[in-house]
Amino acid sequence: MFSKTYTFNRLGMLSNVIEVEVDIKKGLPKILFTGLLSQEVKEARERLRPAITNSGLDFPMSRITINLAPAETIKSGTHFDLAMAIAVLKANGTITETFKKTAYFGELNLGGEIKWIRGILPMVIEALNEGFEHIFVPQENYNELKFLKEYKIIPVRTINDLIDKIHYPELVTESSDMNFLFNKLTLNYNDIMGQEEMINAFKIAASGHHHMLLIGPPGSGKTMAASRLPGIMPDLTEEEILEINKIFSIFSLTTNKEWIISRTFRTPHNSSSTRALIGGGIKILPGEVSLAHKGILFLDEFLEFRIDALQSLRTIIEKKEVHISLRNGFAVYPADFLLVAAANPCPCGYYNTKGGICSCSLIDIKRYKRKLKNPLLDRIDLQVKVERVNYKKLINGLHNKSSEEIKKEVLNARNIQIERFKNEKFKLNSEIPSEKLSYYCNLQKETNDYLENIMESNLLTARACHKIIRISRTIADLKNHNDIETEDIAECIKYRIYDIE
Ligand SMILES: [Zn+2]
Repeated sequence: MFSKTYTFNRLGMLSNVIEVEVDIKKGLPKILFTGLLSQEVKEARERLRPAITNSGLDFPMSRITINLAPAETIKSGTHFDLAMAIAVLKANGTITETFKKTAYFGELNLGGEIKWIRGILPMVIEALNEGFEHIFVPQENYNELKFLKEYKIIPVRTINDLIDKIHYPELVTESSDMNFLFNKLTLNYNDIMGQEEMINAFKIAASGHHHMLLIGPPGSGKTMAASRLPGIMPDLTEEEILEINKIFSIFSLTTNKEWIISRTFRTPHNSSSTRALIGGGIKILPGEVSLAHKGILFLDEFLEFRIDALQSLRTIIEKKEVHISLRNGFAVYPADFLLVAAANPCPCGYYNTKGGICSCSLIDIKRYKRKLKNPLLDRIDLQVKVERVNYKKLINGLHNKSSEEIKKEVLNARNIQIERFKNEKFKLNSEIPSEKLSYYCNLQKETNDYLENIMESNLLTARACHKIIRISRTIADLKNHNDIETEDIAECIKYRIYDIE
């Protein structure tokens, strides 16, 4: 007796359909596996029989061969259990499945319950793309799939619950819509007093997607201001929301998951391992750089991070994705984040700050400055000096613009870029390749002379000059200037503190 069911395999964010074939022949009771399976898949051998018999069903006392095709890709995970059990039950005639294209996902326990599995979202989305009409998933995973609002996705608790739903399709009710709150803004720039220059830099960063470094003493509100950055960035598209939730579906351990609908703000600690930051481990999970995908990666005291972690960040920023290749497999995860790094100006934190007294020696400061000019710095556009909040401003209560107002300006600058780069592969000012700078960033003679003068007197490199032009392009867009004007470059220079010292 032969039968076949379908499920999916997952490698990082990618997944592909797997045919589960079962053949039952007379012979000594035994389960044989074929199809390049990892150890955890093979452990199903110990779960299948008790899960089926404890559900009150017959398990064939024969020789059972289970093949997972195609055999060329390695299969890992425990979610193959359910498709195997159903194939066995179909082969021995317990189930008559009449659905056309059906996929099964779930790990079985010995009592026949269908348990939560990791990373279900990318697989279910692929199943929908492949035109599967019924997709059975563990009830415990249903929360992370509700957002898809697909009646084809049917949550099940046990093998018997599943059999009932196969035999009596009328039991399958349409999935209920989930209501969730859209982008409720809780952190707003108008509850910060003073710090207009820093907040202006955030507006520029959000508009042109410029990575930034904040240099300032402790207590200058760097974290507070950075955490408000997601609130002034454009809303996520539906496609981006799906992609982010796929990553979290793979990463997260909770069964009661909430959908991520706004840009994330990730703040890994500087003692984080490279694995936690970049990704990896036995299950090749995504790291912080991918959890910050389409959001903000905030590295406070970034000089304290491991140097190898900072080195890998350089490549990731350039490629906007992470390639993890380990002995136990490989995965590619997206990692397109906006980097906000923060550091103190010196070891004690008060060098060259208004009203602060630095207790560091000159040698300490020199060494620290050398450390600051680490390889990551040339991936960072904006270098912003932050002062402590002025006491008068704190007391007189001068509030900043609201996040809603700033976001309007950001969206305007983004729209200008969408129009400008509509025929290009890149979409943002920070991504303009150097060979196209002169085409997209026109400078009138006076402005050009001004920039040349700055370049000469500060001995700037071509790379630094290109960064200044890209940032100035964003500043000009924020002010609706067609060409970059001298005042735009003058504003930009304020945010390049390591060029102009
Ligand atoms: Zn100091």
